[in-house]
Amino acid sequence: MTVPSNTLIRGGHVLTMDPELGDLPVGDVLVTDGRIAAVGTEIVADAEVIDASGAIVLPGLIDGHRHVWQSLLRGVASDWSLPEYLREARSMYCACFDPDDAYLANYLGGLESINAGITTVVDHSHLQRTPEITDALVRGLLDSRVGGVFCYGLQNVPGMTDPGAVRDLLTRLPDDWHDANAQTVRDKYFADPRQRLRFGIALPESAPYLPADVLDALVARATALNPSLITGHWNDRCPDVFPSHPQISLTHANHLSDDDLTALAEAGIGLCTTPDIECGMGTGPLLARRFASRGGAASLGTDITSYTRADILAQARLLLQVERSADALPPTVTWRARDALDLATRSAATSLGLASEVGTLTTGTRGDVVVVRPDPLGATPVGDPAATLLFYTSPAEVETVVVEGELVKRDGALVGVDIADVRQLAEEAAERIRARYDRLPRAALEGVWSGLFG
Ligand SMILES: [Zn+2]
Repeated sequence: MTVPSNTLIRGGHVLTMDPELGDLPVGDVLVTDGRIAAVGTEIVADAEVIDASGAIVLPGLIDGHRHVWQSLLRGVASDWSLPEYLREARSMYCACFDPDDAYLANYLGGLESINAGITTVVDHSHLQRTPEITDALVRGLLDSRVGGVFCYGLQNVPGMTDPGAVRDLLTRLPDDWHDANAQTVRDKYFADPRQRLRFGIALPESAPYLPADVLDALVARATALNPSLITGHWNDRCPDVFPSHPQISLTHANHLSDDDLTALAEAGIGLCTTPDIECGMGTGPLLARRFASRGGAASLGTDITSYTRADILAQARLLLQVERSADALPPTVTWRARDALDLATRSAATSLGLASEVGTLTTGTRGDVVVVRPDPLGATPVGDPAATLLFYTSPAEVETVVVEGELVKRDGALVGVDIADVRQLAEEAAERIRARYDRLPRAALEGVWSGLFG
């Protein structure tokens, strides 16, 4: 496919999300050789022109935490509690994926992201059961053309049906082969440290519960793999071993205290809140706003597309409303749509160590640009464009997506993707996975996770 070196997105309401630049009610964005070359008005350039008049132009959205492999399990988790999720998804469904399924899941998850204007995804990839699966997971993301960080799950993944073996596997530190396996894909696919999709490490669920010296050793082990990001699920214990390591983003962390949040913010550690999952599974207060108010850089995450679709604007909206619901009949609101949108763009990029690359439409950053055309009946005339994005749009209104200067969605359709073909492959894979799942010794595996952590 020919990739034009210049693309001019013309005449839209530009939300740069850069506090210095602000909005341009009628503005242009020029992308040259994959980077933002200019943001302004009436830019003249020899470029392929995308007409954005009447539409909203914003930086590529960021999903700070997702297990992309679960895109083939849509809907299975939507009525699950956390214990049910851990048992079903993390000790049963994970045993049912072969490399072809893994590839397709991540390919589909990447396409789903682009379709929704999400150009950067942190894939907390905890399906590293075999080297073949690892390789397939990375290829799936790369082929989808989405950017972000593939975070190799440095943890054991059950692939067997004996409950004792499963329990043992989950509770011991990651087996030795993981390091070489992670290194292999890092060297094979992530040679350029500035590339669109980068290499990271995801810590195991056990991490917050480990004694400090063991956690320190585990983080040192992760750091030795030279990741651009280390991420992990967290809870109520503030880590004190992280500040001297690479960029860190912790997810959930619902029970950290205000002092903990201040300490994390001062250490430059990011925090990711996943509103749908945290509300739905009752994991505790959503912390993104509290963290941001202490100067921390927070992001929002979908977490599991086995529960809800990848739509980060919907997550921003849910967080906004949860925050507002905490005040009884306030005379004015203290948190605005734009503040929540910031967590899906600028703040998220900072939390992931990617502020110089994505999150704002600023000259020199990566050419990730999204054009959203509000529905003429339900969303126009447009008032505040940030509010329109959160309250009046869905992925269906994402008209154009540019990733690193490449037009990957145009006129509402993914470029170079046969949707019917992908759908058929996904349905066939989901059927295979379900058949394997139905053959698992359910009664024996139930209870494997109970009491393991926390
Ligand atoms: Zn998660």
